[in-house]
Amino acid sequence: MNSNGDKLVHATGADNQIRCMAAVTTGLVSEACRRHRTFPTASVALGRTLTGGLLLGRGVKDLEKITVHFDCDGPIGNIIAQADATGNVRGYVTNPAADTTQENSMGKFDVRKIVGTGTMYVIRDAGFEIGLMKEPYRGSVPIVSGEISEDFAYYLSRSEQVNSAVSIGVHMTVEGNGTELHSGENPEFELERLRVTAAGGYIVQIMPSASEEIISYLERRIPSAPHSTEMVREGMAPLEMLECALGGVGLTLLEEIEPRFHCQCSKERALLIISALGHREIEDMLKKDNGAELTCHFCNETYNVTADELQRLLAEANG
Ligand code: ZN
Repeated sequence: MNSNGDKLVHATGADNQIRCMAAVTTGLVSEACRRHRTFPTASVALGRTLTGGLLLGRGVKDLEKITVHFDCDGPIGNIIAQADATGNVRGYVTNPAADTTQENSMGKFDVRKIVGTGTMYVIRDAGFEIGLMKEPYRGSVPIVSGEISEDFAYYLSRSEQVNSAVSIGVHMTVEGNGTELHSGENPEFELERLRVTAAGGYIVQIMPSASEEIISYLERRIPSAPHSTEMVREGMAPLEMLECALGGVGLTLLEEIEPRFHCQCSKERALLIISALGHREIEDMLKKDNGAELTCHFCNETYNVTADELQRLLAEANG
């Protein structure tokens, strides 16, 4: 259980003609940005990707794990998010200091500038738990927008042949004066005072059975809805966000879970990784550093391994 108020829902609407996932992720995006010390624009890129990964994973039957990977040629490098069926999500960016000094024409963080172009990959592991042992599903599309939401929509339509509306956002402020932070306004900002004040979004998928009527209704309705960060800032829960965006389409809630930032790494796993390097490598660590330090990419946790522990691993390897 978490207590940060994050929620993730899965619903259907219009007599199963649409499938919807929506989430409030302010808590888990804050946690991710705090751990990785991401600058404002990198925070928005990471937060959107973590949220998108959670939403996308919710629509997959028998999901074990979904990995979303933006391989970008812009300054941010890679953006990775990995979510599981219980709502655990973890992720990172290669360059947390990637930031822009200009707003885009919408007055928002210019995420596109730090993403650039490249490829978006989605890898889904499903069916292991029920013994199906399916091959992981892999899909990839070129990064067409760099603003993340549009890229998720493009991926869904091209790779999974599901037309979808995607709205994901992250809103930030500087603590103390409460002002909204747009990139470039405050180049001297202190990372410690940066706060993720709202994060969340939704994906609405149009099922093949959808009538022309419902499609044209949604095409008119969704673009005029408030942006998802505005809804989160107003305190809406995920189902209320969907009601606000879609109007009266008769939503049926299928499930609600509490997502959280969570990484599976541990000291034990760090020791296993070192052990797998082999005794020559371990002897090297002893000689050079009299110990070892391992940092998890996904959550930025650092594990210190003492000389004694390295000696024990050596003894086990030799024994
Ligand atoms: Zn970790």
